[in-house]
Amino acid sequence: MNVLLLGPQGSGKGTQAKRIADEYGAPHIATGDMLRATIQSDTPLGRKLKPILDSGRLVSDDLMIELIRNRLEEADAANGFVLDGFPRTWAQAQALDSMLREIGRDLNVVFALQVPDDVCTQRLLKRAREEGRADDTPEVIAERLGTYHRETEPLVDHYRTSGNLVGIHAGRSINEVFSEIQVALEQVAVR
Ligand code: ADP
Repeated sequence: MNVLLLGPQGSGKGTQAKRIADEYGAPHIATGDMLRATIQSDTPLGRKLKPILDSGRLVSDDLMIELIRNRLEEADAANGFVLDGFPRTWAQAQALDSMLREIGRDLNVVFALQVPDDVCTQRLLKRAREEGRADDTPEVIAERLGTYHRETEPLVDHYRTSGNLVGIHAGRSINEVFSEIQVALEQVAVR
């Protein structure tokens, strides 16, 4: 099962992606986690990435496409994956389409998690208090949500026409959202 999640920061995308991955035994490929791990490693690349993530701007398409290309080639992704955080731009979506075409695979389902900005902001500010993530300040949150609406949200339409897009009302509890996701995944599985 190849699953993609789209949704603004604070939509619970990462939480749901993890649950899908656990339930279906597929790797959770989260670009934000991968980038933060690179930053932790304190390499030249990590030092280059840190100010970009801290400011809420996007990492370059070339670098992200390379990162995902390598990750999808790893053995654990051979039977499926749950992709979270990629694609975020039109160029990345085009690259993903052609990568999947090359390896003869398709996205079985694309979830678009929908939550109003004010709810996202409240959730991220709460996460800032609990986890202290460097990019969860009010200014950077506003920057990331703006980038989402400008660059990433148009991809929902791309997948509406080309894939199996399922809209999810993600303003509810984690369990309620996951139930809705499971219903959709079961429909995909029997198809
Ligand atoms: P969030 O969705 O809450 O912003 P992520 O953990 O998914 O958090 O991403 C954190 C940061 O990593 C982003 O703000 C951006 O700088 C970078 N990033 C992650 N994925 C991508 C991507 N596909 N393209 C460009 N930058 C990315």
